[in-house]
Amino acid sequence: MATNRTFTMIKPDAVGAGHTGAIIKMIEEAGFRIVAMKLTQLTPERAGQFYAVHKERPFYGELCAYMSSGPIVPMILEKDNAVADFRELIGNTDPKKAAEGTIRRLFAKDISANAIHGSDSDENAAIEGRFFFAETDMF
Ligand code: UDP
Ligand code: MG
Repeated sequence: MATNRTFTMIKPDAVGAGHTGAIIKMIEEAGFRIVAMKLTQLTPERAGQFYAVHKERPFYGELCAYMSSGPIVPMILEKDNAVADFRELIGNTDPKKAAEGTIRRLFAKDISANAIHGSDSDENAAIEGRFFFAETDMF
């Protein structure tokens, strides 16, 4: 399994607010190469599958409704140390706790509508990448 790739998606709040271009610019300027990208929308059922690991958590229903509420931009990204470096670029889950200059600090509305996703491990990056780009051999 490649260890130099991660998966991300720009979430409905950021796409809807017109931040897609600014966020992609930050990602590229941070040294990530875009390997795959598209604009799509999840159904509530597919959002539920993507976040199945969180299904016992109190915010799960709200999260699935929110993540299916508008278009998203999923991407596979390549860079040395991609997973950890990308988590640093996006910042804390809660934008109020995210460091200055991070994508979530700059663009997220709140802890739920937090602008962008980033995989938390090489294993999950591969699973999540295949969830959106099953037609390709990205991992
Ligand atoms: N989330 C939420 N409320 C919370 C925690 C998380 O709505 O209290 C949402 C938020 O959109 C977050 C996603 O659930 O990005 C997944 O949560 P996780 O803890 O995996 O955070 P992440 O890895 O995205 O930073
Ligand atoms: Mg997570």
